[in-house]
Amino acid sequence: MMRGAVPTILQAIGNTPLVKLNRLAADVAADVYVKCEFLNPSGSTKDRMAPYLIDEAEARGELRPGGTIVEATSGNTGAGLAMVAAVRGYKCVFVMPDKMSSEKIATLRAFGAKVVVCPTAVEHDDPRSYLEVAKRLAAETPNAYYANQAHNPDNPGGHHQSTGPELWEQTGGEIDVLVAGLGTGGTLGGTGRYLRERKPGVQLVGVDPIGSLYYDFVKSGRVTSPFTYKVEGIGADFFPTTLDLRLLDEVVRVDDKECFLMARDLVRLEGLCVGGSSGAAVAGALKYARQTQKKENIVVLLPDGASHYLSKIFNDDWMRDNGFLEEHPGLGMVSDVLKGKTSDVIFARSIDRVRDVIGRMKAHGISQLPVLEGDKLLGAVAEVDMLRYLVSGEHSLDSPVGMLAESDYATVTANTKLELVQSLLSGARMAIVLGDDGRIVGVITKIDLIDYLARRAT
Ligand code: PMP
Repeated sequence: MMRGAVPTILQAIGNTPLVKLNRLAADVAADVYVKCEFLNPSGSTKDRMAPYLIDEAEARGELRPGGTIVEATSGNTGAGLAMVAAVRGYKCVFVMPDKMSSEKIATLRAFGAKVVVCPTAVEHDDPRSYLEVAKRLAAETPNAYYANQAHNPDNPGGHHQSTGPELWEQTGGEIDVLVAGLGTGGTLGGTGRYLRERKPGVQLVGVDPIGSLYYDFVKSGRVTSPFTYKVEGIGADFFPTTLDLRLLDEVVRVDDKECFLMARDLVRLEGLCVGGSSGAAVAGALKYARQTQKKENIVVLLPDGASHYLSKIFNDDWMRDNGFLEEHPGLGMVSDVLKGKTSDVIFARSIDRVRDVIGRMKAHGISQLPVLEGDKLLGAVAEVDMLRYLVSGEHSLDSPVGMLAESDYATVTANTKLELVQSLLSGARMAIVLGDDGRIVGVITKIDLIDYLARRAT
């Protein structure tokens, strides 16, 4: 073989550049570096785990010659697996939610894979969901291997073996903080676990889109109501077992608009040709850096490239139609509704007695309110919870209300668009508005939204 050549494309995975962020990080004390995982051969960081996953499956005898790899994917894991399959002679079937870009679907078909597209807006355990369809197809296809990235330890294992050591070497051990978006959590979990083994003080910061479950679960232990968002590849409406959330030091939240505008800025101001989840990771890292104001080395992982999203994030018509460019404000934002509300946020403390909370609800004419422990959100109580509690007859009016707190709310920020709030209120009882520091800044119920829209229409 010629000197300088590699035997297959699989040996060209990794060794991605670590680049200093310049213009976009000018206002933070930390030095922010980005790792260009989008430069991997099939176009994403998933190339780190795909060959490892297949090696392990072959070694265990779960994937046999001529077999079919089946996977539920937002596109990138599929591309990584399809690349390995091409080299090793496997067939592929991929199942994707319909919110994913047409570029990613077309890429998988270009690799020769069969692609099945399923509805996004169904529960994760609905038989029509991409996860359930993938599971079923894997069971029905002879000689199939279900890669199951959300529950397969080889997913974080691949990053532990590849991304972690490379980053440790590249930073000379001077990394203080690792920031990555959370999808299956394989990237942050696997890479982070390796870095911690070398340097226990490394901080691991996850970035989560609004609508996903991770942020609220880490902050309050609650499984709140998930809702759909546009950024691809990150966030979850169920808990993958690939991520041990206890590993995380912090979770930062971002909304679609921040992700997409940051992705566009990364291309235009830094020459980094990246997609929406990279925008999310950098937006999250900069929020974190502004909060900590520490002189330290932050490394952000950039999972995939702009070419996957030319018809969306980099298409002004799509951005405008979806309200992500300023010229099209749509119905407005959560902050607009809050401006029109006259009273302060009415809440209960977890130690308040049930009797007093009922009194407060009556006095203010409200039927539900958030419950705080210290200044942290613990949950929410509604009339129906009180009713159930009192009817059961087992409890006293003098019990602390904290034990009644429930999870059927969603959390949003002041910048969340009202179109999203409207759709999430069809499932959740209320939207609790949190500031960047996690404190409650407001509550929006259906009647608040109706009131705002009615006033706006007159
Ligand atoms: N960004 C993109 C574009 C992705 O496809 C994924 C994987 N779903 C991620 C980020 C998150 O990676 P992980 O699943 O390892 O958390």
